[in-house]
Amino acid sequence: MTKSRHFTIVGGGQSGLQLGIGLLKAGHEVRIVQNRTGDDIEKGKVMSSQCMFDQALQNERDLGINFWEAECPTVDSISFTVPSPDGGGAKAIDWNGKLDHAAQSVDQRVKIPRWMQEFVRQGGEMIIHDAGIEDLENYAKQSDLVIVAAGKGDIVKMFERDATRSPFDKPQRALALTYVKGMEKRPDHSAVNFNLIPTVGEYFTFPALTTTGPCDIMVFEGIPGGPMDCWKDVKSPEEHLAKSKWILETFTPWEAERCHNIELTDDNGILAGAFPPTVRKPVGRLPSGAIVLGMADAVCLNDPITGQGSNNASKCAKAYMDAILAHGDRAFDEAFMVATFEAYWSYAQFVVGWTNALLMPPPPHVLNIMGSAQAYPDLAKRIANGFNDPRDFFPWFAVPEEADAYLTRLAA
Ligand SMILES: Cc1cc2nc3c(=O)[nH]c(=O)nc-3n(C[C@H](O)[C@H](O)[C@H](O)COP(=O)(O)OP(=O)(O)OC[C@H]3O[C@@H](n4cnc5c(N)ncnc54)[C@H](O)[C@@H]3O)c2cc1C
Repeated sequence: MTKSRHFTIVGGGQSGLQLGIGLLKAGHEVRIVQNRTGDDIEKGKVMSSQCMFDQALQNERDLGINFWEAECPTVDSISFTVPSPDGGGAKAIDWNGKLDHAAQSVDQRVKIPRWMQEFVRQGGEMIIHDAGIEDLENYAKQSDLVIVAAGKGDIVKMFERDATRSPFDKPQRALALTYVKGMEKRPDHSAVNFNLIPTVGEYFTFPALTTTGPCDIMVFEGIPGGPMDCWKDVKSPEEHLAKSKWILETFTPWEAERCHNIELTDDNGILAGAFPPTVRKPVGRLPSGAIVLGMADAVCLNDPITGQGSNNASKCAKAYMDAILAHGDRAFDEAFMVATFEAYWSYAQFVVGWTNALLMPPPPHVLNIMGSAQAYPDLAKRIANGFNDPRDFFPWFAVPEEADAYLTRLAA
């Protein structure tokens, strides 16, 4: 029987709360330092589109924190569409692949405040405070291990950027979210409807659960400098909604057809921003020499184009929990921290590689794969289910010869 250890987690988002609740359940003492109250989060702006696939949802089920599973609409498939290059409103590529298990998206404004309550209910210590380096020094003295799970917060800059794992130093997309009610359902099953508009960007949409019930989330990924990089002059929620509709009418008229009657879920159901995808070194060194461990987005931040961030955060939290529990009574030293992150990276490197590849203009073999899925339902299904575990894309999605060999096998 290992003794109870003390952990401080800075940042109570997807990864911090999931790990915190998991460690409490395993009999440890946990403090989470969170810079906003649950009320602030619930009444604040949306933060993500947070579509999560089965493996990540299973981590929540295993901890009994899947509170919305029955009421949250399911996402049952992935659709992929490329508009015809002639601009006449036709589709050049159009396919749908069913997911083996449904995905779900619970607005973090719903999830995080409830998980904060659950963490406290299970005996966790919740401190509302914007932690700085001085605080980390104190936490490092008081805890067996300090984990920084502060997402895109400024404090994560204490972790050195890993240039060998970060091919970009600038944002690759202008991002926007629009949470709406009144979108017409797809004719068959629900889907992430993913539209790739060459040289312009991507638009995808799927059902979700927000503070006021079921909704649809619209996600815009504009190539910098292009026509979908258009949010800087938007001044009000009404203008944001109007701009969202303009994009659909201009580039994906079939999506505009579903949106004649949409309205915002609430004035905070909008977001616009940009950030460079960044992998950082996992060990942060404080001025005193004490060390802290980075987790999830804090050290492995992806562009949302593949909808993997919350999935990664959940999988990272699970990997860290397994490593902590397996470590027994031993000290959480630098070797532990590096090994723990590398164990997660052995998975995450594939997500990062796939996500970063989709931010670049697609090479011919990728175009060939995405086009062929229209003719081969098995391929469409495999691509769809790859969102649940992107390791399945390798090597055939990444290596042209492997793609050719796979497509030849499918055609035989
Ligand atoms: C536009 C957009 C769309 C997205 N869509 C998807 C999607 O469809 N699917 C998906 O899986 N992922 C998606 N994501 C990504 C996903 O939301 C994140 O990857 C995920 O929330 C990361 O979890 P985390 O625990 O690392 O950090 P977060 O969930 O960001 O949590 C960090 C927490 O730390 C707090 N904090 C920060 N600094 C401090 C500090 N100094 N002291 C105390 N607290 C602090 C923050 O307030 C926050 O509560 C999207 C992201 C964006 C921006």
